[in-house]
Amino acid sequence: MVDLIPVLTEDQIRDKVALLAKNISSDYQSDNLVLICVLKGAVVFLSDLMRHLTIPVEIDFIELSSYGNNDVSSGTPLIRKDVHMDLRDKHVLVVEDIVDTGLTLAALVDYLKSKGPKSVRVCAMIDKLERRKTDIRADYVCHTVNGGFLVGYGLDYAEKYRNLPDICHLKK
Ligand code: 5GP
Repeated sequence: MVDLIPVLTEDQIRDKVALLAKNISSDYQSDNLVLICVLKGAVVFLSDLMRHLTIPVEIDFIELSSYGNNDVSSGTPLIRKDVHMDLRDKHVLVVEDIVDTGLTLAALVDYLKSKGPKSVRVCAMIDKLERRKTDIRADYVCHTVNGGFLVGYGLDYAEKYRNLPDICHLKK
């Protein structure tokens, strides 16, 4: 038996995503912006966020392998599916589900920078502070939590719960 305790409801998520999109639209007014969604957890966030943006954007997707227990803090992340788009001279905004230790994101940002974009910034749905091991910070954050394991709104536990409209704390 698991307990699912709502952390952010569907309505709260909608308001926060709309506010974030307003800030992003104002910051990137005349730029060529590419949103790079990190599969699979950020896919729901991306689809809501992009529909609130009032600037033209392109999208692409990347899928990374989990580092498991290895504390790999830099270098090339293990890529399951790479971006297709040429990122040279584009502004890149990584759309990520959760920044936890920050190791995945630090490696991903380094990797994307090697593709020659004008800039790389990060938009995270959840900033989870408790286990941070790098000094990487997301430039845009929807919601901050200390810890706990979250599911719903794209986030899974063993591939389940991604379809929940709320973000919930999963307690076993
Ligand atoms: P990091 O390298 O920052 O430790 O790992 C971040 C990744 O771990 C996230 O992109 C996500 O896939 C996974 N992750 C971290 N915390 C959670 C959580 O609370 N729930 C879920 N479903 N995934 C998490």
